[in-house]
Amino acid sequence: MALTFRRSWSDPDLDQYRDTVVRFIEEHMLPGDEAARHRGHVGHDLWRQAGQTGLLCTDIPEPWGGAGGDFRHEAVFYEEMARRSLTGLNASVHTIVAHYLLNHGTDAQRQRYLPRLASGECVGAIAMTEPGTGSDLQGIRTRAERSGAGYVIHGSKTFISNGFLAGLVLVVAKTDPTQGARGLSIFIVDTADCPGYHVGRVLDKMGLKAQDTSELFFDGVAVGPEQLLGGREGQGFFQLMADLPYERLIIGVTALAAMEGAYQATLDYVRERKAFGQPIADFQNTRFKLAEIATEITVGRAFIDRCVEDLVAGRLDTATASMAKLWGSEAQGRVVDACVQLFGGYGYMNEYLVARMYTDARIQRIYGGTSEIMKEVIARAL
Ligand SMILES: Cc1cc2nc3c(=O)[nH]c(=O)nc-3n(C[C@H](O)[C@H](O)[C@H](O)COP(=O)(O)OP(=O)(O)OC[C@H]3O[C@@H](n4cnc5c(N)ncnc54)[C@H](O)[C@@H]3O)c2cc1C
Repeated sequence: MALTFRRSWSDPDLDQYRDTVVRFIEEHMLPGDEAARHRGHVGHDLWRQAGQTGLLCTDIPEPWGGAGGDFRHEAVFYEEMARRSLTGLNASVHTIVAHYLLNHGTDAQRQRYLPRLASGECVGAIAMTEPGTGSDLQGIRTRAERSGAGYVIHGSKTFISNGFLAGLVLVVAKTDPTQGARGLSIFIVDTADCPGYHVGRVLDKMGLKAQDTSELFFDGVAVGPEQLLGGREGQGFFQLMADLPYERLIIGVTALAAMEGAYQATLDYVRERKAFGQPIADFQNTRFKLAEIATEITVGRAFIDRCVEDLVAGRLDTATASMAKLWGSEAQGRVVDACVQLFGGYGYMNEYLVARMYTDARIQRIYGGTSEIMKEVIARAL
């Protein structure tokens, strides 16, 4: 069965936009992916090209340099990359950064940074995780101490997506260590000519090979008061919590698109490949596995599509978004694993899409909040 990849939230304009996205991917991303996987990053040119084509910050309003669309436009770009296992250009983290500025920044901060993010001139990253803490955000040690009218930041961050290429890093730091959640603030660090800011290693990961995930060091980075997100201390935790449904749904959306891509590639492969004188596709086991996968994708599509519609309507809650992240990432792991099995030894070779998808899938259950943390969030809402 060839699944139609129709979304309930799509329309003719979005279909046309999808064609533009696919053209961009085929012309600008696929040809350079192998080199980017070896290098560990896609380079600034690709970001600028994506910006020029209008693919970045599509749901940021036009007055701030965005395209004035909504989450569906973002979803189209993420889906088409995920279906092809193209992970180098982490447009989702980039957009999340833009949303922090849009939702919590001052007008001056929006004016200064959003157009640069939308054009791809500046790559965005968000630095929460540290060597000593990830899930437990309140355990961070990076601190921002008052110095004159501004602050000085000391600390180190790790596993930061887009970290190597980032021109703008949102840094979560403690402004008051005695205040728990109320002691966290977010600072906008402009990385150009920034004394005390150092990019460490581009980390060698199991998957997401083309994506720059880095360590970042802040050794006495001085920032002015205008670099405090929203201009008020102690708002960091609440700013982070407010944007969680958006971030978690992105992972659900990409998980399902990757499943669709793996399914399609596997369907094509098993029809070609022969064993014992017949196509692999004709074995009952193959047909049953593919039937299970097709069912899982179809059921998942109904749920993820509803979440997309709810997000666009402004009514997606954190627990449901966490279900999308939990279910999507776990299902992606199951489906891609089954697809690798149907490819046999070729499924283990990196030149095959499903092999890359297998290693790319594993992180989906960890970043953006682990599956265990998702269950905590969902359980609290029961
Ligand atoms: C490729 C990649 C990209 C990333 N990008 C970014 C980024 O851009 N910015 C950023 O800030 N971070 C980023 N991260 C970090 C990521 O968000 C964290 O790794 C993740 O949140 C888990 O934190 P941790 O690694 O410290 O694990 P830990 O928090 O140490 O967790 C270890 C284990 O303990 C479990 N655990 C922890 N607390 C509980 C609990 N309460 N109940 C039950 N089990 C629990 C976890 O589920 C996990 O299984 C990235 C990580 C990777 C690998």
